[in-house]
Amino acid sequence: MPTKDFVTIISRTQGPVDLYRFDRFASVKQRTMLAAEHPTCAWPGCNTPAERGQFHHLTPWKHGGETNVVNLVTLCSYHNGVNEDDPNAPPRRGRLARKGGKIVWQPPHSSR
Ligand SMILES: [Zn+2]
Repeated sequence: MPTKDFVTIISRTQGPVDLYRFDRFASVKQRTMLAAEHPTCAWPGCNTPAERGQFHHLTPWKHGGETNVVNLVTLCSYHNGVNEDDPNAPPRRGRLARKGGKIVWQPPHSSR
């Protein structure tokens, strides 16, 4: 099965890539990288362009998630709203996660 990887080239003069807990919101550099990874909302079947999207923390900020590229994904506002952030909440729509470096959708009732 062919694999598809990507490379982003970002100026190193415009600040760090990862922001850890210093800032909740993705930087322009992070947004550029995330849009290269997912030019559209990463939710399966959604085609909302990344430039109209939001940048979602896979491990929620309120649960200690960092504003690092590995913990961020492009979502439209609708799917950012329905993504289940709380693992203890009743499962309804599933959630996105990064597994093996790739973003995957985990359906309700799936193990993490
Ligand atoms: Zn979407």
